[in-house]
Amino acid sequence: MSESKRPRTGGFTRRTFALGALGAVGLVTVGAGAKVLPARSLLRPPGGQDEVALLGTCLHCEKCREVCPQGAIGPVHVEDGLLNMRTPTLDFHGGWCDFCTDVDGGPRCAAVCPTGALALPAGAVLGSTATGETGTVILGVARVNRDWCLAQRGMKCRSCVDACAFKAVTLGYDNVPVVDEALCNGCGSCENVCESMSSGSIAPGATDRAIVVVPLDEVEA
Ligand code: SF4
Ligand code: SF4
Ligand code: SF4
Repeated sequence: MSESKRPRTGGFTRRTFALGALGAVGLVTVGAGAKVLPARSLLRPPGGQDEVALLGTCLHCEKCREVCPQGAIGPVHVEDGLLNMRTPTLDFHGGWCDFCTDVDGGPRCAAVCPTGALALPAGAVLGSTATGETGTVILGVARVNRDWCLAQRGMKCRSCVDACAFKAVTLGYDNVPVVDEALCNGCGSCENVCESMSSGSIAPGATDRAIVVVPLDEVEA
């Protein structure tokens, strides 16, 4: 199924929230200019794809972050808006999300959340998107920046290809990785292993890894 046709959980609500935020642009600043609304879209742990519900119910208790065995959840900082501050976001620098498929109860982060701010909808499908099932949880989509990629620079790197358990990353015609967005669920394993920011391999001007997961509404915009 093509990227445009594949159903994605959370995309509509996130976009709706973004439009709401634009409509309320007059409220963006208060006091000394502190941001109230999100400065950008954010990656959320499984069950946090309804942005309105998450912001309305998250207690900022950080229980989800503490329980994540992969270290894949970080707190949002004030730069991304006061409303978002200390809500959970996925941070693939230290780990990646395996959807807690090792436990019967599913994602530990959602299970420990006391308010349901992280709550998977009934019938949610975790893991592979290959079947195109309605309700598959998509956290984001991986994007490659060729200019920063070691493979593009002739260094024969393929770490992201080998890391993706969902076969969403392959080497293209010129041995630079390409992402099949229809197979990517945004787990972040590729970003986690990307070596482009390692000592001695950083491309001039690079500010992030060469493969990063971006929120769905950045893809759909
Ligand atoms: S599903 Fe599991 S691995 Fe993924 S963010 Fe939640 S606790 Fe971490
Ligand atoms: S491309 Fe990256 S984010 Fe997407 S499924 Fe593969 S490893 Fe996960
Ligand atoms: S791991 Fe990073 S540097 Fe290596 S091929 Fe993948 S995107 Fe390029």
